Amino acid sequence: MTMSWRDRVALVTGGSRGIGRQIALKLAESGMKVAVNYRGNQEAAQETDELIRQAGGDSFIIPSDVSDITQAQSLIDTVLGHWGRLDVLVNNAGIARDTLLLRMKDDDWSDVIQTDLTSVFACTRAAIKPMMKQRFGRIVSISSIAGILGNAGQANYAAAKAGVIGFTRSVAREMASRNITANVVAPGLVETDLTQHMSPDAFQALVKQVPLGRAGRPEEVADAVWYLIGAEYVTGQTLVVDGGLVMD
Ligand code: NDP
Repeated sequence: MTMSWRDRVALVTGGSRGIGRQIALKLAESGMKVAVNYRGNQEAAQETDELIRQAGGDSFIIPSDVSDITQAQSLIDTVLGHWGRLDVLVNNAGIARDTLLLRMKDDDWSDVIQTDLTSVFACTRAAIKPMMKQRFGRIVSISSIAGILGNAGQANYAAAKAGVIGFTRSVAREMASRNITANVVAPGLVETDLTQHMSPDAFQALVKQVPLGRAGRPEEVADAVWYLIGAEYVTGQTLVVDGGLVMD
């Protein structure tokens, strides 16, 4: 018999704010139990937890820096200890440290690679063990159109986000026979804290290039994640959610 979503458990990394919060809420709506990871912003994480509970869902928050491989492993162990299984992993946590390559410091490079790419490796590697035992798993990782197009001032971020796509295609091939799918959502410009550092002029200039004429909403990225979690015959794909900026 097929399990209902109500019996399933999800983990969203970086679920305290922005896109991750909306993904956590969307998954909780289906009845899934949702573990909300965050790094330091406990207040925001508690707010997400509260929103899920108000909507009748079940969640708990877990502070953990997923850029650290040991912490990423114990994050998965914590979810397993709490609910005994893990069905859905959404690798959403991410940072940007934008600067032109000539000025890019070693830490700008390594912080972004660790947070945006190594975390995806570490969480996924830890998550596939229980998923293999269950013979069911859904992994969705959040990349960016910067990982497809490249972007001036984002060599570190684009490299990490392109890495997420190659990594996911490999995981999809390795895990398909175990009924574990791995896919990517690549958002374009989405209004969150991450894009707050942009000047209003730079933000508007980017919006002008979007065929649909506006920035994306975090809920729209969450909808794409939800589609990929429900899709039984889709793996190794990158679903671009960008108002039409990338068309290929
Ligand atoms: P926000 O800055 O709004 O939120 C980032 C989230 O990631 C927070 O929950 C933060 O936790 C968490 N986080 C950051 N570093 C770590 C870490 N080391 N360990 C655990 N959690 C961490 O970002 P967005 O919502 O905008 O971005 C979400 C994802 O979407 C990222 O991967 C980003 O690269 C990607 N993306 C975003 C786009 C956009 O335009 N906004 C476009 C394309 C992709 P805390 O609250 O504790 O700090």
